Amino acid sequence: MKLKEIGEFGFIDRIAPLGDIRRTGVVKGIGDDCAVLEYDESEYQLVTTDLLVERVHFRMDWTTPEQLGSKALAVNLSDIAACGGVPYDAFVSLVVPDRIEVEWLEALYRGMSETAREFDVNLLGGDTTSSLSDFIISVAVTGRVPKSEILYRNTARAGDYILVTGPLGLSAAGLEMKTRNVDAAEHVVESLMASHLTPKPHVREGRMLARSGFCTAAIDVSDGLSSDLRHLCQESGLAAEIYEASIEPPPELIELSRVTGRNPLEWILNGGEDYVLLAAVDPNGIDKLLDDASEWGRRFMSIGRFVEGSGMNLIRSDGSVTALQPGGWDHFR
Ligand code: ADP
Ligand code: MG
Repeated sequence: MKLKEIGEFGFIDRIAPLGDIRRTGVVKGIGDDCAVLEYDESEYQLVTTDLLVERVHFRMDWTTPEQLGSKALAVNLSDIAACGGVPYDAFVSLVVPDRIEVEWLEALYRGMSETAREFDVNLLGGDTTSSLSDFIISVAVTGRVPKSEILYRNTARAGDYILVTGPLGLSAAGLEMKTRNVDAAEHVVESLMASHLTPKPHVREGRMLARSGFCTAAIDVSDGLSSDLRHLCQESGLAAEIYEASIEPPPELIELSRVTGRNPLEWILNGGEDYVLLAAVDPNGIDKLLDDASEWGRRFMSIGRFVEGSGMNLIRSDGSVTALQPGGWDHFR
C-alpha cells in the first residue's frame, strides 16, 4: 500500500497508537498542532516539529537562503501560536547536498536568527548530515502556555464564530503567480511573494486569543482553510458554515484574479501556507475580539459559524449552499 492510498492523515491515525507508551506527563500526544506536556503548576510545555524539503516545499531559485531560514522557523512558531503559546527554544537539523556552499548555509542561519530574535527564541541545537539529492531543513520548537489558556482543536462549540486572524490566499496566489509566470503590478508581486516566502507567525495574535477567554479552539492555517477547518470540525464533532459575504478578498487577490481570470475564493478556501490562525470564538466575545484587534491595527475576520452536525457548507452571497470539500494540501494525495 502506498501513502497516497490513505493520505497523510490516514497514515498519522494508523501510527499514532504506536507512540502511546508512557502516559505520565503527557497531556496531548499526536493529533494537535503541538504535543502538550506537564511543565509546572501553572504552565504546559508545547513541542512541535515541521520540515521543509527542496522541490516539495520550496525551489532554490525562487527563495533566498535568508527567506528559507526565516520560513522554516516561522512555520514551527505558527504551531506554537495555534496552541496559544509563547515559543522558547528551537532545534534545527539540516540535510545538505554537496552543491551547497557554507556561505549559503550561513545566510540561511542569518534569516533564521533574525526571525528567532523577533520572537525571542533561542536556537539551541540540531543535527547536520550530508544528502545524496535534495536539501532538507527540519526544525523543532518548544514553547509554554498557561494551563487555563491552552487552545486545542477539539474544543469548539456549536454556535461559536469562525475567526481568522489575517488574510487568506495570498501565499497560494503568490506561488501560482510564480509558477505560471503571471505578470502583475510590482506592489502586488512584492506583497504576494512576501506572503509566500516569509510568512509571519501569528504568535502575538495567538496569545491575544488565548488570554481573551473567548477563544474555544484554534489551529493554524497551513494546508488551507477548507482542510484546516475540517480538522477543527472533525475533532470538535461539529459542522461549519462559511459565509461568502463575510469574506473580503485582499486587494492583491482581486488584482491577480483580474489578470488570471481565477476566482479569488479558490485561493482563499483551498490555498494554504497562510499561517494565520483559524479560531472558534464564543458569541459573547466576538465583537470585543474584533474591536480589540482593529485597535491594535490587525484585521481579524469573522467568516462563519460552527453548528451541530458534520461536514462544511459554503453559504454563497446569493443564499445558495454548496458543500465545502477539503481542497487543501495533503502531501500524498
Ligand atoms: P501541523 O500541520 O499542525 O504541523 P500535521 O498535520 O503536520 O500538523 O500533523 C498532525 C499531527 O500528527 C501532529 O500532532 C504531528 O505531530 C503528528 N505527526 C505528523 N507526522 C508524524 C509522524 N511521522 N510521526 C508521528 N507523529 C506525526
Ligand atoms: Mg498546525
